[in-house]
Amino acid sequence: MSKLIVLSNRVSLPHPDSQQAGGLAVALEDALNGVGGIWMGWNGEQSTEKQDTFDIIHEKNVEYHTCALSEAEYQGYYCGFANGVLWPLMHEQKKYIEFKAHEYQIYQDVNLKFAQHLNKIASSEDVIWIHDYHFLSVAHYCRQLGMKNRIGFFLHIPFPERTQWKSVKPYQELAQHLAQYDLLGLQTDYDQTYCFDFLRQTLGLKAHDANTLSDQTRQIKINCYPIGVHPTALQKRAADSIDVALPFSDLNNPNIQNIISVDRIDYSKGLLEKITAFDAFYKHYPDMKNQVRQLQIACPCRLDVDTYRSLYDTFKAKVDQLNQKYAESESPVFSCSFEAIAHHELMHLYRHADICWVNSIRDGMNLVAKEYIAAQDPIDPGVLILSKYAGAAEHMPEAIIVDPFNVKSMMKALNQAIHMPPSERLARYKLLFQGLKDFDIIQWRNHFIGDLNRSGQSVIYLPRNKAARYDAINLSI
Ligand code: UDP
Repeated sequence: MSKLIVLSNRVSLPHPDSQQAGGLAVALEDALNGVGGIWMGWNGEQSTEKQDTFDIIHEKNVEYHTCALSEAEYQGYYCGFANGVLWPLMHEQKKYIEFKAHEYQIYQDVNLKFAQHLNKIASSEDVIWIHDYHFLSVAHYCRQLGMKNRIGFFLHIPFPERTQWKSVKPYQELAQHLAQYDLLGLQTDYDQTYCFDFLRQTLGLKAHDANTLSDQTRQIKINCYPIGVHPTALQKRAADSIDVALPFSDLNNPNIQNIISVDRIDYSKGLLEKITAFDAFYKHYPDMKNQVRQLQIACPCRLDVDTYRSLYDTFKAKVDQLNQKYAESESPVFSCSFEAIAHHELMHLYRHADICWVNSIRDGMNLVAKEYIAAQDPIDPGVLILSKYAGAAEHMPEAIIVDPFNVKSMMKALNQAIHMPPSERLARYKLLFQGLKDFDIIQWRNHFIGDLNRSGQSVIYLPRNKAARYDAINLSI
């Protein structure tokens, strides 16, 4: 019987008290729990020596295969090419791209390492689903190793317009590697169009229809699969009682409107832009200091990457400056908690908040926007302010849509949210919640896997014996 094998950089191991701070791990956990299979990836640890052996844990119907990265792999693959080149490229932040040839080589070596493990554990009928920008090249190595499995790829972050790719030297090779997948899944219609155009123009492929490209030997399907959440489960979780203290005090004060935001400290999340908007807002409406306050969960991440370290410092300093400027307010206008909290606790925080503000300057989807709506009290729901540059905006038009580059737009959105009458809040919420049910996480998984199962059988690029020879000489490309 065929099984599903999922590969993502981080794996959400089954610890009861694990705290998630990434959309991908939260979503995959939900998606895999139902069908079972194998979930493989990095265990989050660094070893002094390079390791190729994987630890295996069984829990319910999922087998977890994880492996450490060596310090050199962590620097070159994770901090270097994945987060120092691909992340800024795909979020259209060219100024942060720092391409180094040796880091690209390490990225390729790590992709090969995971492909080799896949080759070891997969039987020919297994379906393989690779996730995100860490693994653009895995299918290429699987094919070289002789694997004929159906292999799909889902990109959780945005896909940039074709001309942007030219700032990354080996972009043509990466296009060739992407073309080794049978199915490429993207978050939004824009991403799908850009990906299609990039592969067609870069590789000179033939377009059959809006979703299919081919060369003489094989077809590649490219489609949009907006990732969702489990709205009814989250709604229930938010309504259940808990006995843990939430990070912010005075949550039930009827005289204050709380605005919740939950972000990693990443330049794509529009955090500095939001502080600028709050400053302008309080300056213009001084009475609001004691009536409206921001509660920000700000999870530090990728601190070994210079850009992130300096953003972390800048963000903290700007929050302090803002709070000092409006120090006469009864509580800080911008309260921050720098620690991730467990996912179920977050649902309670969402439910306590009158407004949620997602201000990304570029974002694949943004699950926080969807979770906030899912967690609301259906009788007295809150209001969502959502950046037009988050993928979620394509599917949540009933939110207040905001431009994070425009201070006036953000101030207007704040005013609208603060003063929205209950009847309008309810009407918007009902449509948003229905939208979450129409495209939930289970449908996302079933839709992708269904299409992958229907995709054409891949051709073999190398006969088995040749692939084995490649393996034996420790292929380095
Ligand atoms: N999250 C969490 N605890 C935290 C902060 C975040 O569980 O303290 C989860 C959050 O619920 C969401 C995910 O992390 O599911 C963040 O996903 P999103 O798509 O918003 O952003 P990403 O970090 O993937 O860019």
